[in-house]
Amino acid sequence: MELETEVEIGKAFLDQVIYRHMNGEDVVKEVSMAKWWLTDLTKKAVAECMKLFGGYGYMEEYEIARRFRDIPVSTIYAGSNEIMKTIISKKIGL
Ligand SMILES: Cc1cc2nc3c(=O)[nH]c(=O)nc-3n(C[C@H](O)[C@H](O)[C@H](O)COP(=O)(O)OP(=O)(O)OC[C@H]3O[C@@H](n4cnc5c(N)ncnc54)[C@H](O)[C@@H]3O)c2cc1C
Repeated sequence: MELETEVEIGKAFLDQVIYRHMNGEDVVKEVSMAKWWLTDLTKKAVAECMKLFGGYGYMEEYEIARRFRDIPVSTIYAGSNEIMKTIISKKIGL
């Protein structure tokens, strides 16, 4: 229920950013926010999902183990989340 709420919030924000981008607006700040927040959320979500499987969640036979291992890289590539935060900081004048 908590994750479902956060996923819905994330979807609403992302849809809005895409819509604004398609309308030609400058959304660099919002894209950076989305990249940081949504990829952090996927890490949290996959960790919670893995726990549902208990010890089996760590075993290669279960796809969730692969997801748990692969998802965190999304916070690194295409601009690490620390870099996303520096972009946001600059955009809001910090
Ligand atoms: C699976 C995978 C696929 C990739 N695919 C591509 C690709 O297709 N094309 C491509 O060009 N690159 C790709 N990369 C490279 C990726 O973009 C870089 O790994 C990423 O930008 C981080 O750079 P780095 O590895 O040099 O780490 P570093 O820049 O050395 O960063 C190390 C750590 O320090 C933090 N850090 C660095 N500078 C700052 C700062 N100024 N303030 C705060 N924290 C900071 C980073 O956030 C990170 O946590 C890929 C990487 C991986 C792992």
